[in-house]
Amino acid sequence: MLSNSLIELDRQHLVHPVSSFRGHEERGVRVLRSAKGATVTDAEGRELIDGFAGLWCVNAGYGHESVVEAAAEQMRQLPYATGYFDLGSEAPIRLAAALAERSPGDLNHIYFSLGGSDAVDSTIRFIRYYWHAKGQPDRDQFISVEQGYHGSTTMGAGLTALPGFHDGFGVPYQWQHKISSHYTYRNPLTTDQEIIDASVAELKAKVAAIGEDKVAAFYVEPIQGSGGVLVPPKGWVKAMRDACAELDILFVADEVITGFGRTGPLFACAEEGIVPDLMTCAKGLTSGYVPMGAVFMRDHVYETIAEGAGAKAVGHGFTYSAHPVSAAVALEVLKLYEGGLLENGRKAGARLLAGLDTLRDHPLVGDVRGRGMLAAVEMVTDKERKTPLPASVQPATRLFDRAWEQGLIVRSFAQGIFGYAPPLCCTDAEIDAIVERTRTVLDQTLEDPEIR
Ligand code: PMP
Repeated sequence: MLSNSLIELDRQHLVHPVSSFRGHEERGVRVLRSAKGATVTDAEGRELIDGFAGLWCVNAGYGHESVVEAAAEQMRQLPYATGYFDLGSEAPIRLAAALAERSPGDLNHIYFSLGGSDAVDSTIRFIRYYWHAKGQPDRDQFISVEQGYHGSTTMGAGLTALPGFHDGFGVPYQWQHKISSHYTYRNPLTTDQEIIDASVAELKAKVAAIGEDKVAAFYVEPIQGSGGVLVPPKGWVKAMRDACAELDILFVADEVITGFGRTGPLFACAEEGIVPDLMTCAKGLTSGYVPMGAVFMRDHVYETIAEGAGAKAVGHGFTYSAHPVSAAVALEVLKLYEGGLLENGRKAGARLLAGLDTLRDHPLVGDVRGRGMLAAVEMVTDKERKTPLPASVQPATRLFDRAWEQGLIVRSFAQGIFGYAPPLCCTDAEIDAIVERTRTVLDQTLEDPEIR
Protein backbone atom coordinates (compact mmCIF):
# COMPACT_ATOMS: atom_id res chain seq x y z
CA MET A 1 0.00 0.00 0.00
CA LEU A 2 1.08 3.51 -0.68
CA SER A 3 1.83 5.26 2.55
CA ASN A 4 -0.26 8.34 3.09
CA SER A 5 2.88 10.25 3.87
CA LEU A 6 3.92 10.10 0.19
CA ILE A 7 0.66 11.69 -0.87
CA GLU A 8 1.06 14.25 1.87
CA LEU A 9 4.67 15.03 0.93
CA ASP A 10 3.61 15.49 -2.69
CA ARG A 11 0.80 17.79 -1.62
CA GLN A 12 3.15 19.90 0.45
CA HIS A 13 6.21 20.07 -1.78
CA LEU A 14 5.86 18.94 -5.39
CA VAL A 15 4.53 21.45 -7.91
CA HIS A 16 2.90 19.53 -10.77
CA PRO A 17 3.08 20.70 -14.39
CA VAL A 18 -0.06 22.16 -15.98
CA SER A 19 -2.26 21.42 -12.99
CA SER A 20 -4.69 23.29 -10.80
CA PHE A 21 -2.60 23.63 -7.67
CA ARG A 22 -5.72 23.65 -5.47
CA GLY A 23 -7.44 20.90 -7.45
CA HIS A 24 -4.38 18.72 -7.18
CA GLU A 25 -4.08 19.29 -3.44
CA GLU A 26 -7.67 18.15 -3.10
CA ARG A 27 -7.39 15.09 -5.33
CA GLY A 28 -3.90 14.02 -4.29
CA VAL A 29 -1.29 12.27 -6.40
CA ARG A 30 -1.65 8.84 -7.98
CA VAL A 31 1.78 7.33 -7.74
CA LEU A 32 2.97 5.03 -10.51
CA ARG A 33 5.49 2.45 -9.44
CA SER A 34 6.57 0.32 -12.35
CA ALA A 35 5.89 -0.44 -16.00
CA LYS A 36 6.53 -3.02 -18.68
CA GLY A 37 5.58 -2.91 -22.35
CA ALA A 38 2.36 -0.91 -22.51
CA THR A 39 1.28 -1.64 -18.93
CA VAL A 40 1.93 0.56 -15.91
CA THR A 41 1.36 -0.48 -12.31
CA ASP A 42 0.38 1.98 -9.64
CA ALA A 43 1.48 1.99 -6.01
CA GLU A 44 -1.57 -0.06 -5.05
CA GLY A 45 -0.75 -2.76 -7.58
CA ARG A 46 -3.43 -1.79 -10.11
CA GLU A 47 -2.38 -2.55 -13.68
CA LEU A 48 -3.39 -0.14 -16.41
CA ILE A 49 -2.87 -0.01 -20.16
CA ASP A 50 -1.06 3.22 -20.87
CA GLY A 51 -3.05 4.42 -23.83
CA PHE A 52 -1.15 7.70 -23.79
CA ALA A 53 2.46 6.45 -23.52
CA GLY A 54 3.13 8.68 -20.53
CA LEU A 55 2.71 12.05 -22.20
CA TRP A 56 2.77 10.79 -25.81
CA CYS A 57 6.43 10.02 -25.35
CA VAL A 58 7.16 6.40 -24.40
CA ASN A 59 6.82 5.31 -28.02
CA ALA A 60 9.00 2.22 -27.61
CA GLY A 61 7.14 1.06 -24.49
CA TYR A 62 8.47 0.50 -20.99
CA GLY A 63 11.08 -1.86 -19.66
CA HIS A 64 13.58 -2.25 -22.51
CA GLU A 65 16.69 -3.64 -20.81
CA SER A 66 18.89 -2.70 -23.76
CA VAL A 67 17.99 0.97 -23.23
CA VAL A 68 18.78 0.73 -19.53
CA GLU A 69 22.08 -0.92 -20.41
CA ALA A 70 22.97 1.76 -22.98
CA ALA A 71 22.39 4.49 -20.38
CA ALA A 72 24.30 2.64 -17.68
CA GLU A 73 27.24 1.94 -19.96
CA GLN A 74 27.42 5.58 -21.05
CA MET A 75 27.25 6.73 -17.43
CA ARG A 76 30.05 4.36 -16.51
CA GLN A 77 32.25 5.49 -19.37
CA LEU A 78 31.50 9.18 -19.62
CA PRO A 79 28.40 10.53 -17.88
CA TYR A 80 28.84 14.05 -19.15
CA ALA A 81 30.71 15.98 -21.80
CA THR A 82 30.15 19.58 -22.78
CA GLY A 83 29.87 20.71 -26.36
CA TYR A 84 31.43 24.06 -25.47
CA PHE A 85 35.14 24.74 -26.25
CA ASP A 86 35.03 22.48 -29.33
CA LEU A 87 34.61 19.45 -27.07
CA GLY A 88 32.21 16.58 -27.64
CA SER A 89 31.55 12.90 -27.19
CA GLU A 90 30.78 9.96 -29.43
CA ALA A 91 27.11 9.23 -28.80
CA PRO A 92 25.68 12.68 -29.74
CA ILE A 93 27.88 12.81 -32.84
CA ARG A 94 26.65 9.38 -33.98
CA LEU A 95 23.08 10.32 -33.12
CA ALA A 96 23.23 13.58 -35.10
CA ALA A 97 24.60 11.68 -38.10
CA ALA A 98 21.97 8.95 -37.80
CA LEU A 99 19.14 11.49 -37.58
CA ALA A 100 20.48 13.59 -40.46
CA GLU A 101 20.58 10.45 -42.61
CA ARG A 102 16.96 9.59 -41.78
CA SER A 103 15.37 13.03 -41.80
CA PRO A 104 13.69 14.44 -44.91
CA GLY A 105 15.81 16.37 -47.44
CA ASP A 106 18.80 18.34 -46.25
CA LEU A 107 17.84 18.71 -42.58
CA ASN A 108 21.47 17.88 -41.95
CA HIS A 109 22.35 19.97 -38.89
CA ILE A 110 21.09 19.08 -35.47
CA TYR A 111 21.14 20.99 -32.21
CA PHE A 112 20.15 18.94 -29.16
CA SER A 113 18.02 20.40 -26.40
CA LEU A 114 16.55 18.91 -23.23
CA GLY A 115 12.98 18.55 -24.44
CA GLY A 116 10.38 19.98 -26.79
CA SER A 117 9.79 23.39 -25.24
CA ASP A 118 13.42 24.41 -25.32
CA ALA A 119 13.75 22.97 -28.83
CA VAL A 120 10.98 25.33 -29.97
CA ASP A 121 12.49 28.18 -28.01
CA SER A 122 15.83 27.48 -29.67
CA THR A 123 14.22 27.71 -33.11
CA ILE A 124 12.98 31.21 -32.27
CA ARG A 125 16.52 32.25 -31.36
CA PHE A 126 18.11 30.59 -34.38
CA ILE A 127 15.50 32.10 -36.71
CA ARG A 128 16.01 35.60 -35.32
CA TYR A 129 19.74 35.13 -35.79
CA TYR A 130 19.21 33.81 -39.33
CA TRP A 131 17.31 36.93 -40.43
CA HIS A 132 19.86 39.18 -38.76
CA ALA A 133 22.58 37.31 -40.66
CA LYS A 134 20.64 37.86 -43.87
CA GLY A 135 20.57 41.59 -43.18
CA GLN A 136 16.80 41.58 -42.51
CA PRO A 137 16.55 42.07 -38.75
CA ASP A 138 13.04 43.49 -39.12
CA ARG A 139 11.77 40.03 -39.90
CA ASP A 140 10.89 39.43 -36.29
CA GLN A 141 7.21 38.45 -36.45
CA PHE A 142 6.11 34.84 -35.93
CA ILE A 143 2.89 33.12 -36.96
CA SER A 144 1.41 29.88 -35.65
CA VAL A 145 -1.96 28.13 -35.73
CA GLU A 146 -4.89 28.41 -33.32
CA GLN A 147 -5.22 25.36 -31.06
CA GLY A 148 -1.53 24.70 -31.63
CA TYR A 149 0.94 23.76 -28.94
CA HIS A 150 4.61 24.67 -29.08
CA GLY A 151 5.69 24.31 -25.49
CA SER A 152 5.71 26.30 -22.33
CA THR A 153 8.80 28.51 -22.31
CA THR A 154 8.42 32.26 -22.05
CA MET A 155 8.70 32.68 -25.83
CA GLY A 156 7.25 29.37 -26.99
CA ALA A 157 4.11 29.68 -24.85
CA GLY A 158 3.09 32.62 -27.03
CA LEU A 159 3.31 30.48 -30.16
CA THR A 160 1.17 27.97 -28.33
CA ALA A 161 -2.45 28.95 -28.88
CA LEU A 162 -4.20 27.49 -25.85
CA PRO A 163 -5.63 30.07 -23.43
CA GLY A 164 -4.50 28.17 -20.33
CA PHE A 165 -0.89 28.84 -21.30
CA HIS A 166 -1.51 32.58 -21.81
CA ASP A 167 -3.92 33.74 -19.13
CA GLY A 168 -2.06 35.40 -16.31
CA PHE A 169 1.33 34.97 -18.00
CA GLY A 170 1.37 38.07 -20.20
CA VAL A 171 1.67 36.16 -23.47
CA PRO A 172 1.37 36.07 -26.44
CA TYR A 173 3.70 38.94 -27.27
CA GLN A 174 2.89 41.44 -29.99
CA TRP A 175 5.20 39.67 -32.41
CA GLN A 176 3.27 36.41 -32.10
CA HIS A 177 0.32 35.99 -34.49
CA LYS A 178 -2.14 33.20 -35.27
CA ILE A 179 -4.21 31.91 -38.13
CA SER A 180 -7.26 29.66 -37.69
CA SER A 181 -6.90 25.94 -37.20
CA HIS A 182 -8.04 23.51 -39.90
CA TYR A 183 -10.03 21.61 -37.20
CA THR A 184 -12.03 19.72 -39.80
CA TYR A 185 -14.80 18.40 -37.51
CA ARG A 186 -15.89 21.88 -36.52
CA ASN A 187 -14.91 23.72 -39.68
CA PRO A 188 -17.80 25.46 -41.45
CA LEU A 189 -16.04 24.62 -44.72
CA THR A 190 -16.60 21.03 -45.71
CA THR A 191 -14.26 19.85 -48.46
CA ASP A 192 -10.55 19.33 -47.89
CA GLN A 193 -9.70 21.68 -50.73
CA GLU A 194 -11.86 24.47 -49.32
CA ILE A 195 -10.16 24.16 -45.93
CA ILE A 196 -6.70 24.13 -47.52
CA ASP A 197 -7.47 27.14 -49.73
CA ALA A 198 -8.88 29.06 -46.77
CA SER A 199 -5.78 28.41 -44.62
CA VAL A 200 -3.42 29.45 -47.42
CA ALA A 201 -5.47 32.59 -48.04
CA GLU A 202 -5.51 33.40 -44.32
CA LEU A 203 -1.76 32.97 -44.03
CA LYS A 204 -1.17 35.23 -47.04
CA ALA A 205 -3.59 37.83 -45.67
CA LYS A 206 -1.90 37.68 -42.26
CA VAL A 207 1.55 38.17 -43.80
CA ALA A 208 0.25 41.08 -45.89
CA ALA A 209 -1.31 42.68 -42.81
CA ILE A 210 1.86 42.34 -40.74
CA GLY A 211 4.05 43.45 -43.64
CA GLU A 212 5.58 41.02 -46.10
CA ASP A 213 9.14 41.89 -45.13
CA LYS A 214 8.39 41.59 -41.40
CA VAL A 215 7.52 37.93 -40.99
CA ALA A 216 10.21 35.49 -39.89
CA ALA A 217 8.53 32.10 -39.72
CA PHE A 218 5.38 30.03 -39.60
CA TYR A 219 4.97 27.06 -37.22
CA VAL A 220 2.91 23.94 -37.87
CA GLU A 221 2.31 20.66 -36.09
CA PRO A 222 1.74 17.97 -38.75
CA ILE A 223 -1.14 16.87 -36.49
CA GLN A 224 -2.21 19.29 -33.75
CA GLY A 225 -1.75 17.32 -30.53
CA SER A 226 -2.56 19.23 -27.36
CA GLY A 227 -5.34 21.13 -29.15
CA GLY A 228 -7.28 17.85 -29.26
CA VAL A 229 -5.55 15.66 -31.88
CA LEU A 230 -6.71 17.67 -34.88
CA VAL A 231 -5.75 15.97 -38.12
CA PRO A 232 -5.50 18.35 -41.09
CA PRO A 233 -6.92 17.48 -44.48
CA LYS A 234 -4.53 15.54 -46.70
CA GLY A 235 -2.32 18.06 -48.48
CA TRP A 236 -2.84 20.87 -45.92
CA VAL A 237 0.71 20.69 -44.53
CA LYS A 238 2.23 20.68 -48.00
CA ALA A 239 0.07 23.60 -49.12
CA MET A 240 1.19 25.61 -46.08
CA ARG A 241 4.81 24.67 -46.69
CA ASP A 242 4.54 25.78 -50.34
CA ALA A 243 2.86 29.03 -49.32
CA CYS A 244 5.77 29.80 -46.96
CA ALA A 245 8.26 29.19 -49.78
CA GLU A 246 6.29 31.57 -51.97
CA LEU A 247 6.12 34.17 -49.19
CA ASP A 248 9.83 33.71 -48.43
CA ILE A 249 9.26 32.93 -44.76
CA LEU A 250 10.72 30.01 -42.88
CA PHE A 251 8.51 26.98 -42.31
CA VAL A 252 8.95 25.14 -39.02
CA ALA A 253 7.49 21.68 -38.48
CA ASP A 254 7.02 20.89 -34.79
CA GLU A 255 7.26 17.10 -34.71
CA VAL A 256 7.58 16.81 -30.95
CA ILE A 257 4.57 14.49 -30.86
CA THR A 258 4.45 13.21 -34.43
CA GLY A 259 8.12 12.24 -34.68
CA PHE A 260 9.55 8.79 -34.10
CA GLY A 261 6.86 6.52 -35.39
CA ARG A 262 3.84 8.12 -33.75
CA THR A 263 1.99 8.52 -37.04
CA GLY A 264 3.69 5.62 -38.88
CA PRO A 265 6.98 6.76 -40.41
CA LEU A 266 9.92 8.09 -38.40
CA PHE A 267 8.86 11.65 -39.27
CA ALA A 268 5.40 12.79 -40.32
CA CYS A 269 6.97 15.32 -42.73
CA ALA A 270 8.23 12.44 -44.86
CA GLU A 271 4.68 11.25 -45.40
CA GLU A 272 3.57 14.80 -46.22
CA GLY A 273 6.30 14.93 -48.88
CA ILE A 274 7.81 18.12 -47.50
CA VAL A 275 11.11 19.38 -46.16
CA PRO A 276 10.63 22.07 -43.50
CA ASP A 277 13.33 24.70 -43.01
CA LEU A 278 13.56 23.70 -39.38
CA MET A 279 12.05 20.78 -37.49
CA THR A 280 11.72 20.12 -33.77
CA CYS A 281 11.55 16.73 -32.05
CA ALA A 282 11.63 15.39 -28.49
CA LYS A 283 9.49 12.78 -26.69
CA GLY A 284 9.92 9.65 -28.89
CA LEU A 285 13.53 10.65 -29.60
CA THR A 286 14.49 8.97 -26.32
CA SER A 287 11.10 7.37 -25.77
CA GLY A 288 10.85 9.29 -22.51
CA TYR A 289 13.58 7.23 -20.79
CA VAL A 290 15.69 10.38 -20.37
CA PRO A 291 15.07 13.99 -21.45
CA MET A 292 16.19 15.16 -24.89
CA GLY A 293 14.92 17.26 -27.76
CA ALA A 294 16.34 18.29 -31.12
CA VAL A 295 16.26 21.13 -33.63
CA PHE A 296 16.94 20.06 -37.21
CA MET A 297 18.12 22.76 -39.65
CA ARG A 298 18.36 22.63 -43.40
CA ASP A 299 21.70 23.39 -45.01
CA HIS A 300 20.67 26.92 -46.00
CA VAL A 301 19.64 27.79 -42.43
CA TYR A 302 22.85 26.44 -40.95
CA GLU A 303 25.03 28.07 -43.60
CA THR A 304 23.37 31.46 -43.24
CA ILE A 305 23.87 31.43 -39.47
CA ALA A 306 27.45 30.19 -39.85
CA GLU A 307 28.32 32.88 -42.41
CA GLY A 308 26.61 35.57 -40.38
CA ALA A 309 28.52 34.69 -37.23
CA GLY A 310 31.90 34.23 -38.89
CA ALA A 311 34.48 33.76 -36.14
CA LYS A 312 32.05 34.87 -33.44
CA ALA A 313 30.31 32.32 -31.23
CA VAL A 314 26.57 31.87 -31.89
CA GLY A 315 25.51 32.58 -28.32
CA HIS A 316 22.95 29.90 -27.80
CA GLY A 317 23.43 26.71 -25.81
CA PHE A 318 22.74 24.79 -22.64
CA THR A 319 24.97 22.91 -20.22
CA TYR A 320 23.12 19.76 -21.20
CA SER A 321 22.99 20.27 -25.01
CA ALA A 322 23.90 16.96 -26.64
CA HIS A 323 24.00 15.07 -23.36
CA PRO A 324 25.90 11.80 -23.92
CA VAL A 325 23.58 9.64 -21.78
CA SER A 326 20.47 10.95 -23.56
CA ALA A 327 22.18 10.41 -26.91
CA ALA A 328 23.18 6.85 -26.03
CA VAL A 329 19.57 6.14 -25.08
CA ALA A 330 18.29 7.74 -28.30
CA LEU A 331 20.64 5.60 -30.41
CA GLU A 332 19.40 2.45 -28.71
CA VAL A 333 15.77 3.50 -29.03
CA LEU A 334 16.31 4.17 -32.73
CA LYS A 335 17.56 0.59 -33.09
CA LEU A 336 14.38 -0.66 -31.45
CA TYR A 337 12.17 1.43 -33.74
CA GLU A 338 13.95 0.15 -36.81
CA GLY A 339 14.17 -3.38 -35.46
CA GLY A 340 10.41 -3.85 -35.62
CA LEU A 341 8.64 -1.28 -33.46
CA LEU A 342 7.83 1.09 -36.32
CA GLU A 343 6.29 -1.79 -38.19
CA ASN A 344 4.36 -3.01 -35.18
CA GLY A 345 3.19 0.55 -34.54
CA ARG A 346 1.86 0.82 -38.07
CA LYS A 347 -0.14 -2.40 -37.71
CA ALA A 348 -1.32 -1.56 -34.19
CA GLY A 349 -2.24 1.96 -35.34
CA ALA A 350 -4.44 0.62 -38.14
CA ARG A 351 -6.13 -1.68 -35.62
CA LEU A 352 -6.59 1.16 -33.14
CA LEU A 353 -8.23 3.44 -35.71
CA ALA A 354 -10.44 0.64 -37.03
CA GLY A 355 -11.42 -0.24 -33.46
CA LEU A 356 -12.19 3.34 -32.44
CA ASP A 357 -14.17 3.70 -35.66
CA THR A 358 -16.59 1.06 -34.39
CA LEU A 359 -17.51 3.50 -31.59
CA ARG A 360 -19.07 5.90 -34.09
CA ASP A 361 -22.45 4.29 -33.51
CA HIS A 362 -22.34 5.34 -29.85
CA PRO A 363 -24.75 8.20 -29.06
CA LEU A 364 -21.94 10.27 -27.50
CA VAL A 365 -19.37 9.90 -30.28
CA GLY A 366 -19.26 12.84 -32.68
CA ASP A 367 -15.94 12.22 -34.35
CA VAL A 368 -13.15 9.65 -34.55
CA ARG A 369 -9.87 10.72 -36.12
CA GLY A 370 -6.20 9.94 -36.13
CA ARG A 371 -3.21 8.64 -37.98
CA GLY A 372 -1.03 5.74 -36.91
CA MET A 373 -0.82 5.47 -33.14
CA LEU A 374 -2.27 8.94 -32.60
CA ALA A 375 -6.03 9.17 -32.34
CA ALA A 376 -8.98 10.91 -30.74
CA VAL A 377 -12.63 10.34 -30.00
CA GLU A 378 -14.61 13.58 -29.71
CA MET A 379 -17.72 13.36 -27.58
CA VAL A 380 -20.89 15.39 -28.16
CA THR A 381 -24.37 15.32 -26.67
CA ASP A 382 -26.05 16.02 -30.02
CA LYS A 383 -24.41 14.64 -33.14
CA GLU A 384 -26.44 16.80 -35.48
CA ARG A 385 -25.53 20.05 -33.76
CA LYS A 386 -22.12 18.80 -32.57
CA THR A 387 -22.93 20.04 -29.08
CA PRO A 388 -19.90 19.64 -26.84
CA LEU A 389 -20.21 17.79 -23.52
CA PRO A 390 -21.33 20.18 -20.79
CA ALA A 391 -18.45 21.39 -18.63
CA SER A 392 -20.32 20.01 -15.61
CA VAL A 393 -19.37 16.50 -16.79
CA GLN A 394 -15.78 17.52 -15.99
CA PRO A 395 -14.16 15.50 -18.76
CA ALA A 396 -10.60 16.28 -17.69
CA THR A 397 -11.03 14.68 -14.27
CA ARG A 398 -14.22 12.63 -14.07
CA LEU A 399 -13.85 10.93 -17.44
CA PHE A 400 -10.16 10.39 -16.82
CA ASP A 401 -11.07 8.72 -13.50
CA ARG A 402 -13.64 6.53 -15.20
CA ALA A 403 -11.09 5.29 -17.73
CA TRP A 404 -8.65 4.74 -14.88
CA GLU A 405 -11.23 2.60 -13.07
CA GLN A 406 -11.44 0.50 -16.24
CA GLY A 407 -7.67 0.05 -16.23
CA LEU A 408 -6.98 2.50 -19.01
CA ILE A 409 -4.98 5.72 -19.12
CA VAL A 410 -6.10 8.16 -21.81
CA ARG A 411 -5.66 11.87 -22.29
CA SER A 412 -9.00 13.37 -21.36
CA PHE A 413 -9.20 16.88 -22.79
CA ALA A 414 -11.44 19.38 -21.03
CA GLN A 415 -13.56 19.86 -24.15
CA GLY A 416 -14.67 16.20 -24.08
CA ILE A 417 -12.08 14.58 -26.31
CA PHE A 418 -10.26 11.35 -25.49
CA GLY A 419 -6.73 11.35 -26.94
CA TYR A 420 -4.80 8.15 -27.61
CA ALA A 421 -1.09 7.69 -28.18
CA PRO A 422 -0.23 4.18 -27.01
CA PRO A 423 3.28 2.74 -27.15
CA LEU A 424 4.14 1.28 -30.55
CA CYS A 425 4.75 -2.12 -28.94
CA CYS A 426 1.04 -2.67 -28.18
CA THR A 427 -0.33 -6.15 -28.87
CA ASP A 428 -3.63 -6.74 -30.65
CA ALA A 429 -5.20 -7.66 -27.32
CA GLU A 430 -4.06 -4.39 -25.75
CA ILE A 431 -5.42 -2.35 -28.64
CA ASP A 432 -8.75 -4.18 -28.44
CA ALA A 433 -8.87 -3.57 -24.68
CA ILE A 434 -8.28 0.17 -25.21
CA VAL A 435 -11.30 0.27 -27.52
CA GLU A 436 -13.53 -1.87 -25.29
CA ARG A 437 -12.68 0.07 -22.14
CA THR A 438 -13.42 3.29 -23.99
CA ARG A 439 -16.85 1.95 -24.91
CA THR A 440 -17.53 1.16 -21.26
CA VAL A 441 -16.57 4.71 -20.26
CA LEU A 442 -18.86 6.11 -22.97
CA ASP A 443 -21.75 3.93 -21.73
CA GLN A 444 -21.20 5.09 -18.17
CA THR A 445 -21.00 8.72 -19.25
CA LEU A 446 -24.29 8.39 -21.11
CA GLU A 447 -25.87 7.72 -17.73
CA ASP A 448 -24.61 11.00 -16.26
CA PRO A 449 -27.53 13.19 -15.15
CA GLU A 450 -25.82 16.16 -16.88
CA ILE A 451 -26.06 14.38 -20.22
CA ARG A 452 -29.70 13.28 -19.97
N1 PMP B 1 5.73 20.99 -29.24
C1 PMP B 1 4.72 20.12 -29.30
C2 PMP B 1 4.04 19.89 -30.61
C3 PMP B 1 4.36 19.39 -28.16
O1 PMP B 1 3.34 18.52 -28.22
C4 PMP B 1 5.07 19.58 -26.96
C5 PMP B 1 4.75 18.80 -25.70
N2 PMP B 1 3.54 18.18 -25.61
C6 PMP B 1 6.10 20.53 -26.95
C7 PMP B 1 6.41 21.20 -28.10
C8 PMP B 1 6.86 20.80 -25.68
O2 PMP B 1 7.63 19.70 -25.34
P1 PMP B 1 8.11 19.46 -23.83
O3 PMP B 1 6.88 19.19 -23.01
O4 PMP B 1 9.04 18.29 -23.96
O5 PMP B 1 8.82 20.66 -23.37
